Amino acid sequence: MITRILNPEREEDINYAGELLRNGKLCAIPTETVYGLAANALDGKAVKEIFEVKGRPSDNPLIVHISDISELKCLVKEVPEKAKKLMEAFWPGPLTIILPKTDLVPYATTGNLDTVAVRFPENEIARAVIKAAGVPLAAPSANISGEPSPTEFKYVYEDLEGRVPAVIDGGDCAVGVESTVITLATKKPRLLRPGGITPEMIESIIGEIDIDKAVTEQMQQGAKVSSPGMKYKHYSPDCSIIIADISFEDYVKLINESDCDGALCFEGEEKFLNKKAVTFGKCYDGLSQAHRLFSALKELDELGLKKVYARCPQKRGVGLAVYNRLIRSAGYSFYRPESKVIGLTGTTGSGKSTVCKELKDLGFKIIDCDKLTKSGIYEGECLKELVNFFGSGITDENGVLVRKNLAAVAFKTNENTKKLNEITHPYIMAKIRSEIEKYKESGAKFIILDAPTLFEAGADKLCCKIISVVSDKELRLRRIMSRDNITKESALLRINAQKSDEFYTEKSDYVIKNDGNVEALFESVQRIAADVVR
Ligand code: AMP
Ligand code: MG
Repeated sequence: MITRILNPEREEDINYAGELLRNGKLCAIPTETVYGLAANALDGKAVKEIFEVKGRPSDNPLIVHISDISELKCLVKEVPEKAKKLMEAFWPGPLTIILPKTDLVPYATTGNLDTVAVRFPENEIARAVIKAAGVPLAAPSANISGEPSPTEFKYVYEDLEGRVPAVIDGGDCAVGVESTVITLATKKPRLLRPGGITPEMIESIIGEIDIDKAVTEQMQQGAKVSSPGMKYKHYSPDCSIIIADISFEDYVKLINESDCDGALCFEGEEKFLNKKAVTFGKCYDGLSQAHRLFSALKELDELGLKKVYARCPQKRGVGLAVYNRLIRSAGYSFYRPESKVIGLTGTTGSGKSTVCKELKDLGFKIIDCDKLTKSGIYEGECLKELVNFFGSGITDENGVLVRKNLAAVAFKTNENTKKLNEITHPYIMAKIRSEIEKYKESGAKFIILDAPTLFEAGADKLCCKIISVVSDKELRLRRIMSRDNITKESALLRINAQKSDEFYTEKSDYVIKNDGNVEALFESVQRIAADVVR
């Protein structure tokens, strides 16, 4: 079979794709998530061909794509209120909703289920093709089953050339991972697959949802799964991947000193590594990781790598979707350290100390960085360097630091403050490292690094996971005023000088939102603690 490459900018090419699809043939199309291998969703015979070309197990159902809400009527029996709300909020876009199907939808499309998965894509080309076809399109990822999904045209062509009559070259996919899948055919909405639309976004529209266990964990063999796709091998390159759920500093050591032949790391990290590295987006940035993940997996094989350690994405926001794909491509294999350092940070007055105390009660070892920086830093070599720069006026006649003298010069100009940090920073980090080592040697498994300026100091690189505590401004204001016995004005000054909540939350693995309810606070601490120690 000769595979025609279609140009989406030419109307006749879009019409040709529509005609093929209407006549029961296949065509690969771009969408905002990944490329899809499309067929008429209402034509059981055409749909069966998708399964054949992809080598996809026949009980793994397909998502049906529409180009207008009005097309829903022929696919689903009814649209409950919550589904309507989600459609209003996120369609067109990367969200798939599962509902009871009508008789018009063949069982070949739904893998024999009485429910159908529907999505209204945002990609203009996808919508134009659906319109041109005049029928809804079933379209799983346009790759051979089990391999990474294609997000660039070249990979679609590589996999499907000679197997399908046409492929549309629509450039790179914007999101980069498949759509979020949620079922509303159950009593409580349940997330079956994470994607570009995050659980947090969904919950802000319809309230609490369940997240299927299979999203973050390997299901036992033979276990019943809510979504057939969850049980199959997925996204696997030839290269074997092991997820290194460790701090960046430990990761650098692992790559440089172990027998692996490469790294799957975040952008900018490769310069610290002495082996070949493929990057997948930026650290703390799920969106950019999603965009790059599947191509990065392909590149591992293109470089001929056999064994790499991968950095571990955050299990929240879009990061959850990346984590979900990566654990599958790694065959659920993890490199697990003997001990873990967990960073704890957040805004002043947010309740960080309460959280810290609770963690201590739960058996975590605590390193209080505030305390650490107040003692034993401003002496010896560090003090010498400070005197060299700021002059001997910062010490008394015995050569001991006079804090208020140092503060007077160091905070006089921004440049001086910067210099102060430059000088003290390496000593503080060394001190933290040695505290961590001490705990590790004593056999501690879980160590909390309690640091208000965790990110600013770069101490996040020492952490395997990061918890941040944030809370409502009003609440913080009241807390600071009573804790430090200060006026509203000075409390406000302090709060306003702080970084925003987002500064903390976007870089964190766990976010505790403290709204003043102590029970709820303890509950979230316990939930996080349980997840961290697994
Ligand atoms: P893919 O076509 O590779 O994007 O996969 C579609 C995903 O949606 C698979 O994981 C399916 O198992 C899931 N899915 C589709 N339809 C249903 C359904 N009716 N019930 C549960 N899961 C479904
Ligand atoms: Mg797929």
